[in-house]
Amino acid sequence: MANVPVQRMSQLMAKTLRDDPADAEVLSHKLLVRAGYVRRTAAGIWSWLPLGKRVLANVERIVREEMDAIGAQEVLLPALLPREPYEATARWDEYGQELFRLQDRKGGDYLLGPTHEEIFTLLVKDQASSYKDLPVILYQIQHKYRDEARPRAGILRGREFLMKDSYSFDTEDEGLARSYALHREAYRKIFARLGLDYRICAATAGAMGGSKSEEFLAPAEAGEDTFADCPNCDFAANTEAITYALKPVDATDVPAAEDIPTPDTPTIETLAASLGVPASATLKNLLVKVDGEIVAVGVPGDREVDLDKVEAHFAPAVVELVTEADFATRPDLVRGYVGPQGLDKVTYIADPRVAPGTSWITGANKPGTHTKNVVAGRDFEVDRHVDVVVVQEGDPCPKCGTGLVLDRAIEIGHIFQLGRKYTDALKLDVLGQNGKPVRVTMGSYGVGVSRAVAALAEQTADDKGLCWPKEVAPADVHVVAAGKALQTELALDISGKLAAAGVRVLVDDRPGVSPGVKFTDSELIGVPQILVAGRRAADGVVELKDRRTGEREELTVEEAVARLTA
Ligand code: ATP
Ligand code: MG
Repeated sequence: MANVPVQRMSQLMAKTLRDDPADAEVLSHKLLVRAGYVRRTAAGIWSWLPLGKRVLANVERIVREEMDAIGAQEVLLPALLPREPYEATARWDEYGQELFRLQDRKGGDYLLGPTHEEIFTLLVKDQASSYKDLPVILYQIQHKYRDEARPRAGILRGREFLMKDSYSFDTEDEGLARSYALHREAYRKIFARLGLDYRICAATAGAMGGSKSEEFLAPAEAGEDTFADCPNCDFAANTEAITYALKPVDATDVPAAEDIPTPDTPTIETLAASLGVPASATLKNLLVKVDGEIVAVGVPGDREVDLDKVEAHFAPAVVELVTEADFATRPDLVRGYVGPQGLDKVTYIADPRVAPGTSWITGANKPGTHTKNVVAGRDFEVDRHVDVVVVQEGDPCPKCGTGLVLDRAIEIGHIFQLGRKYTDALKLDVLGQNGKPVRVTMGSYGVGVSRAVAALAEQTADDKGLCWPKEVAPADVHVVAAGKALQTELALDISGKLAAAGVRVLVDDRPGVSPGVKFTDSELIGVPQILVAGRRAADGVVELKDRRTGEREELTVEEAVARLTA
């Protein structure tokens, strides 16, 4: 193996810190800053210092190798992009506040790319003319820009972050399915090589014939996604994507609806208690405005509405909660006593649990009054059933019925069969086998490269610090000179020998730093093997320590070098 340069800590442009940064909330943020891997430049904007850059480069290399292995071609497109293509697909507006928009000196509109479907579609439109030019998979590893609402979690959620984004172009649906499957396999290899623990989760509702999408989620407390895992079958899904089938019930025996006076029952809890029924027997109706129009959302009284799901259902329309002012303009809507029966000019969407035939106690649309025996499909119509409740631990698995287990996770990758959304908007056709134009179908696939570094830190760190898997570590061996000139000389000598054999070495040769501080720092930095030239240096004996297990062993210099270069 080729000689590699030794990184000397006496010259390293990175200081370790004893204390956590004041603004850090998650473990990876604390440790990556303290160990000198990254520095915050502004909210959600990060600088990568030498050790951090090495880890990032290792992740990039693994991603690149596995993408190349499926025949994907690497390109590099600009991050500074013109408005027009994003105007054509409506994303200039639909992206909302997350999009960084800017103007040049002539007043022309530009954006910083949050993801590049438009630009890749135009590239293929320019380069491919016939079905013979397809299929093709293109990728880049590049900075992306999103003005995230809460850039709090350090590297996990940057406003500038590194992503591998790839795009597949096929003439047929089967081709798209193949390109998707290739990515799925490549991602499995990437995350396995990175040493990440992950699950592949359904990310969209998976409606019949709809586009398919899966997320790669790395379980971690710091994660902002919640996924549900079935302990009995292979079902795993982002809770955002869980949907239940509608199960109508027979309501022939339910008596007619009847108003009941219910004074002093402003909440579901007080209502249920005063009637002596479980909250699940009541139907609560949340009012929202969708692009200004009032919509009522019905869910069982014991469940919470997931506003993100409501938003996702109506996207790109804007969803807001109704205000006092809205009630003032609609005297027919009685605050606290809204019921779906007799609701006029209001779209009513409801959770599938509000299936046809189910019977409820709900608001009577009169102050201080509820109505019982209100039957879905008999006393009111549901315009659309949509899964809008917050999924809870123990909810039935949609596949086998077993109680689901919930966990927090970090989304590290996402694969998506887009279909023709972008190729329609930008009119990407190629000449088909029969000489007629065919509309191209597309997939888009992302890996959070910088986020993967933080996700790895989250999953592998222990109470002493970072603890990198070998393939991504900033060095193979951390040599510590624990003593004076003799130890430093030996440490540098061993480092040179290891480097000559291609081993990546970080050597702590800092003068005037105590062995105790150096040991603590070596554990914080997290290189997998730590080699200490200490007390027995004069006899040519060193100590080799495994960062993860803490196991240590005394070896002669020759043995240690042989071991580490094996
Ligand atoms: P999230 O739900 O976390 O915002 P997303 O659905 O917006 O993610 P995609 O648009 O699918 O993400 O982007 C592809 C990948 O880029 C994600 O799987 C994730 O790993 C990474 N990513 C997305 N946003 C960020 C960010 N702000 N900082 C770092 N990595 C990110
Ligand atoms: Mg996002």
